[in-house]
Amino acid sequence: MPSIAVIGAGITGVTTAYQLLNRGFDVTLFERQRYAAMETSYANGGQLSASNAEVWNHWSSILKGIKWMVQPGAPLLLNPMPSYHKYAWMTEFLLAMRNYRGNTVSTVRLALEARAELLRIAEAEGLDFALEKRGILHVYRQRQNYEHALRVNDLLSEGGLDRQAISPDQIRAIEPTVQGALHGGFFTESDMTGDIHEFTAQLEQVCEKKGMKAQFNSDIEALKHLKDGGVEVRTAEHGSARYDGVVVCSGVSSRKFASQLGDRLNVYPVKGYSITVNLREQSDRDAAPWVSLLDDETKIVASRLGEDRFRVAGTAEINGFSRDIRQARIDPLLDWCQELFPNMSTRSYVPWAGLRPMMPDMMPVVRAGRAPGVFYNTGHGHLGWTLSAATSSLVADLVGSRMAA
Ligand SMILES: Cc1cc2nc3c(=O)[nH]c(=O)nc-3n(C[C@H](O)[C@H](O)[C@H](O)COP(=O)(O)OP(=O)(O)OC[C@H]3O[C@@H](n4cnc5c(N)ncnc54)[C@H](O)[C@@H]3O)c2cc1C
Repeated sequence: MPSIAVIGAGITGVTTAYQLLNRGFDVTLFERQRYAAMETSYANGGQLSASNAEVWNHWSSILKGIKWMVQPGAPLLLNPMPSYHKYAWMTEFLLAMRNYRGNTVSTVRLALEARAELLRIAEAEGLDFALEKRGILHVYRQRQNYEHALRVNDLLSEGGLDRQAISPDQIRAIEPTVQGALHGGFFTESDMTGDIHEFTAQLEQVCEKKGMKAQFNSDIEALKHLKDGGVEVRTAEHGSARYDGVVVCSGVSSRKFASQLGDRLNVYPVKGYSITVNLREQSDRDAAPWVSLLDDETKIVASRLGEDRFRVAGTAEINGFSRDIRQARIDPLLDWCQELFPNMSTRSYVPWAGLRPMMPDMMPVVRAGRAPGVFYNTGHGHLGWTLSAATSSLVADLVGSRMAA
């Protein structure tokens, strides 16, 4: 069978490697970190959320974004310092508004396929990753935003998702720990949550048992398409090696590798933050929710990860490749906990920041490159955990059909 190098051991790379192995390929997984899922797939919001499929390329998001730019602690932060990458991305983001409707519906469909495939993989391989099948609650404080969300419901339902409009009383009936004044909400019973790092790390081990070669601590310097149709992978640690094909799944580095291979992939790093609250006392565990939340106004998502961990994530920072954890961006997450879950202590928490590999139209890139043997499964933005089980299967089918040809 052809040899395939998969670049990157985040959720997209590991699921891709798994699907390729299941189709009989000889797979080598490259990763610069020492373990799988140590970059963006480390401590995200945890939501497997078809209900969050709306793409952001809409006037209402842009108007909110402009308002947020001058508000300290707001969900969006844009560093206006000029850079070609940033401004090209923002221009394409605006142009993608014309595809808002179609892209939202396609994302819902993909998310529904992905949820089913993720459950199938988890069951087949016995993965234990704090999976909670308790649904996701979207909560709204302002009537205007709630009314926009009612219109989004039509798109979600066109894509096949059932998301129910509910009153503040119904929100509290579904999740009694939620406090604060709310205008209304939506409940998607079929959505789920889980720990992306655990899932990815365990699936990587499964892949090794199935015969995958794993090359950790391998920082790839260059990918080069060869005249014989193969691809050369060069690392400082191991030198160069030839493969029949390559699948680029390298998160925010995908743009650089695509350019080496003759393709353009406008992935931008959109930074986000999370805190993982340790629920040490029984009183904290009782005061923290089990049903996952998305708060529309603050754009914060929250997921319970087992008995004693609560993950809260948010912020979109358009500010280049820095992974620095800034306390000014962590404080709004702590404040949110205090407002909605005042009886849950945040004395013990772990802060984190990660870079969402985001395309301007918010759609993942699942396609072949210009050169034969080159493939991409990347650019999943804010929904990589939700979508990867489906996109990995799609790219593995594509590799199968092209490599056979
Ligand atoms: C704050 C936050 C909250 C989020 N919440 C959610 C959520 O609730 N639900 C959801 O669906 N998604 C969520 N996401 C998005 C999701 O986490 C990402 O889309 C997903 O993790 C991206 O996975 P990836 O495999 O593309 O990238 P990564 O996980 O970053 O994997 C890419 C890998 O490539 C490796 N790599 C890069 N360059 C090289 C090189 N030169 N040599 C070797 N290896 C290299 C990296 O080390 C890395 O391990 C969130 C993201 C953030 C930041």
